[in-house]
This record gives sequence, structure tokens and C-alpha cells, in this order.
Amino acid sequence: MNTETLKKLVEAFGPSGREEKVRNIIIELIKDHVDDYKIDRLGNLIAWKKGTGLNKKKILFDAHMDQIGVIVTYKDKRGFLRVEPVGGITPQVIYGTRLNFDGVIGVVGIERETANAYKDNLKNLDFDKIYVDIAAPSKFDVGIGSFGVYDANPIFVDTKVISPALDDRIGCTMLVETLRSLDSLYNDLYVAFSVQEEHSLAGARVEAFDIKPDVAIAVDVTDSADTPKADKRTSMVLGKGPAIKVMDSLSVSNSYVVELLKRTAEKNNIRYQMEVLHMGGTDAYGLERTANGISTGALSIPTRYIHTPSEVCEWGDVEEGIQLMKLLIKEEITF
Ligand SMILES: [Zn+2]
Repeated sequence: MNTETLKKLVEAFGPSGREEKVRNIIIELIKDHVDDYKIDRLGNLIAWKKGTGLNKKKILFDAHMDQIGVIVTYKDKRGFLRVEPVGGITPQVIYGTRLNFDGVIGVVGIERETANAYKDNLKNLDFDKIYVDIAAPSKFDVGIGSFGVYDANPIFVDTKVISPALDDRIGCTMLVETLRSLDSLYNDLYVAFSVQEEHSLAGARVEAFDIKPDVAIAVDVTDSADTPKADKRTSMVLGKGPAIKVMDSLSVSNSYVVELLKRTAEKNNIRYQMEVLHMGGTDAYGLERTANGISTGALSIPTRYIHTPSEVCEWGDVEEGIQLMKLLIKEEITF
């Protein structure tokens, strides 16, 4: 298993709207494997490779480069910072963690004037009660408007990966590895590494308008329910193949795209699971409602502890997902 690409990508700093470092790494990895690429005004990286099929169509694979994080809203006289979330990051999850402000590490602390206040604050934690301690604030230029993300130290344990920002550097890795290992293409392949999914889905919307693909597929993580007392209404688990999304709380996948993914997997003996996610959404929501509508679906990697510093997924699901994407580019699309 080649985990180098993922390691490089999860270690790169890239909160929503500040994806340059991730984008530069991806450009280096893909530039010799595509016909050409461009960066649009929002910062999306779009690469393409033309197919040779008689009835070829345009397929777009999308993964978002950005990760959840925080932004500094206030700095006190001693240099302690107050922050707001950028994307779905919760105070309960970040208390006690290390945050990386583009090279400067801060620690998340909690207000604790009395023992009772501390207990109370732990129970009802919100962003009013936490602060970030930069340790030596006078030495570093972190202030209002600075972005922070989880400090990354990815670990590969047996067949699993533990890291922050698997959402969605795992999708970026799948797109990169698909491009780097393509043999033949029937369809025209467009690959978009989008910006700002965690904040507004802005990147997906404009890239799909630009490309106007026949089929768009968002590649991202999804929830899993294979831990103690996991969500009873969720079916996805680690290690049973990538998940083909039917619906989440933001979008319903196009039925032809769902069938296309299923058919391609079945024909080639690739395992898959069906995904219905009753909370959350992906770039699929931005992709589908662009121009006069885009036939959109999503391929997801089941992941534990999404949006925490320790997301966990299974490498085999990633590899099967890459296989499925490569085969899909060879499929004749008939609608
Ligand atoms: Zn995501």
C-alpha cells in the first residue's frame, strides 16, 4: 500500500479558503499525468485528460482540498486567542488539542475560574469558554484573521489510517492515484480539487458550471457505524468497500449515476456498500445545482470520528474506490 501521497496531503495546511499548500502538492503529483490543468478564480484546481471513445462523455471526479479549522477573532494583551469555527468543528472535540496556525502550534484551553465553573464549562462547552494558547505569542505572527487546523501526525496501523483531515485528503489521494495509474480512457476525464467545501461548497458549484460534465461524482468520506453504540440508523462500516451514496441531508444522487457505479462495481467484482447518510452532505450538493443541473452522485469512504483530530478509515476501501473510478472512466455512458 502506497501511503506516501496521503501522508503528504494530510500534513499540508489547508483550511477552507486557504488551500494553496495542498494545491501545490497536488500539482506536483499530477502534472505529468494529465493533458493540462488550471486554477480558477476561487482556487479550484481542475485537471483533464481526454478519452478516445466514439461516444465518449465528460466525467468529473471531485474531492475537496480544504479541511475544517478555526479562525482567530480576538487576541488579548497577553496573546491568548479567541477563535470561531470554520466548518463543522466543535469545542468539545478541540479542547486539549494542538492547533496548527500555518506553522505555529497553539493549545486549546478552557476557562476555569473555580472548580464548579470548570465542571460547568466542560458540560456546556462553547466557543465563548475556550481560548488558544500560543505559548510564545510575541515570537509569532498569529492574530485576527489567522486560520488554524488540527496538528497532523498521521499513523498507519495495519490496514487502517488514523489522521485529521482524512476528510477529504483521502478523496484527494484517490483522485491523484487514479490520475497517476490510468491506463486507457474511454471518456473525457475531468478531475477537480475543490475549495471551501467545509464552509460553503462554493468551489464545487463554480467548477461544475465551468466544466458542465455529463456525470459528476464527489469523492469524500462518510460516517460509519461499526463502533460501540454507533448510530442505529446508519449502515456503512469500515472494510467492506467504498460506499455509493444514494442520499444525504443535502442531496439525492442521480439514479443513473447510482446504477452506473453499482453496475461497474458488480461487473468487475469490486465490493461496495450503499450509503444513506441522515446528516451531513458533500460537494455533490454544489455540483448538482449548477448550470441547468448536473447528473451527480458520490463515492464515499466510511470513516470513524469524522471532524475530530483522529479520523480512522480502512486502506482497502480506498484502493477499491480507486479501482472503481478507473473502471468508470472506461464505461460507455448511455444516457
Ligand atoms: Zn468532506
